[in-house]
Amino acid sequence: MAVKFKQKCEKCKTNYVIVSSWRQRRPIICYECEKKDMEGEITDPAMKKMFDIPEDYYKQNSFLRQIKINYMKYKSLTQPQIDAFKKTVDDMKKKKPVHDG
Ligand SMILES: [Zn+2]
Repeated sequence: MAVKFKQKCEKCKTNYVIVSSWRQRRPIICYECEKKDMEGEITDPAMKKMFDIPEDYYKQNSFLRQIKINYMKYKSLTQPQIDAFKKTVDDMKKKKPVHDG
C-alpha cells in the first residue's frame, strides 16, 4: 500500500494535491493547473476510449493526468504506460462506484 500525503501545488500554490510518494517523480501540479494541458482532440479511437473516464478520476489521480498530458503532447504512449493507466482506472473502479451514467 502506497503512502499518500497532501502537498501544495507548485504552480498555483493554492490547491492541494494528493501524492503517492513512491510514484511521484515530477513537479506536483494540481488538477486545475493541469486541466488545460489535458484538453485537445484525440483522433485515435482506442485512445479516445481509454481516456474516456469520469473527470473525477483525473481530479483524484495525478498519474492519470500525467499519462493523458503525455499523450496530448507526444500523441503516443508506450505499452507499459497504457497498461498502468488501465490498471489504475480498474483499481479506482473497484474502490467506489462510478457515477457516470
Ligand atoms: Zn495548481
